[in-house]
Amino acid sequence: MRRGLLQVLRVQSSLTASGCRFNSSEALVYNTYGPPGKVLDLQRSHLRQLLPNEVRVSILASTINPSDFNTIEGVYPIQPPLPAVPGNEGVGEVVALGEQVRGLKKGDWVVPLKAGMGWWRSAAHFCAGDLHRVPQDIGLTAAASLSINPPTALRLLQDYVDLSPGDVVIQNGATSSVGQMVMQLAAEKGLQTVNVIRRSPQRVSDEELKSLGATLVTDEDNLKADMSAAGLPAASLALNCVGGSASLAIAKRLRQSGTMVTYGGMSKQPVMAPTPAFIFKDLRLRGFWLSGNRSESDKKETAAVLDHIVQLYLQQKIKATRRISLGLHEWRHMSSKEGSKLMFQPHRQ
Ligand code: NDP
Repeated sequence: MRRGLLQVLRVQSSLTASGCRFNSSEALVYNTYGPPGKVLDLQRSHLRQLLPNEVRVSILASTINPSDFNTIEGVYPIQPPLPAVPGNEGVGEVVALGEQVRGLKKGDWVVPLKAGMGWWRSAAHFCAGDLHRVPQDIGLTAAASLSINPPTALRLLQDYVDLSPGDVVIQNGATSSVGQMVMQLAAEKGLQTVNVIRRSPQRVSDEELKSLGATLVTDEDNLKADMSAAGLPAASLALNCVGGSASLAIAKRLRQSGTMVTYGGMSKQPVMAPTPAFIFKDLRLRGFWLSGNRSESDKKETAAVLDHIVQLYLQQKIKATRRISLGLHEWRHMSSKEGSKLMFQPHRQ
């Protein structure tokens, strides 16, 4: 009891005048894989001395993505050693630097260059080489959600099919964060997008998606008729983050030798493709994983992609998906159904 009280007093004495906990950290931690509501625990600890190549970061915001739930449940291919702090993405402010760190200064905003660093906490020591500086002008939500969904959307559009202005890209799960980024980046390249959504009550409105550049917004039942009424040609590229009947629906709308890339499985159903089109149109089915097989040398390339996306934000060619903020102590309010609609702001009371 007395030790606990002493610990609280020590933590309180480390608060700065501005209220930022620069010497201590609150973190969501799990010791075993399982449902986040059962296995997560909010823990407070002191930060040790900085190593020469490390940066002390006060975390301003960290995103909650579908893969975070899968990782905590132990069903994601990346399984960090336990105990672990979840959170693959966020933005923080540099508050102290190790003596060997160059190219960063106090007050800079930084984002991660790799997954698995554990951003669901209020402060952390990170290797400077794992961080990338971003301008504050892009805003908190765009910076916190910079490292995963925008690069995913960018690579889905450029890594698989050579697309020319006017070509059609079809996608399911179009209300998703990735989907919204796909339609914005596609519009920026002069591509047309067919966006298949499910008619659930909380989805983003058709008007909102059209304001982001969507050419057509429709559902599985009306897809064929709506594409035909809009005079749209068959799609060159299909992007699948749902699976099941939603993957079948978009694969059916591909042109000869068209490609469907699967990058998510929100319905938890297997990917489906139409047998006749698979044979007679020679469809190609591919998979995408942003974090897969990445090495240290990929960080330069990742940084260049992040800089490109930052420029698109600064030029107001894209905008970030809205997110509702939670304090770390409100973690029980998050649910996988909310997906990417939430983010933590650890210093929020
Ligand atoms: P969001 O949380 O923003 O969106 C989730 C989407 O899935 C919404 O469109 C939602 O529709 C839809 N959805 C949820 N449950 C179902 C269901 N049972 N049937 C049909 N649709 C459903 O997600 P993100 O944009 O962050 O991620 C989208 C997917 O992309 C996820 O699977 C994620 O894991 C994956 N991803 C993969 C990456 C990779 O490297 N492979 C990188 C980034 C993301 P509604 O609006 O109607 O609820």
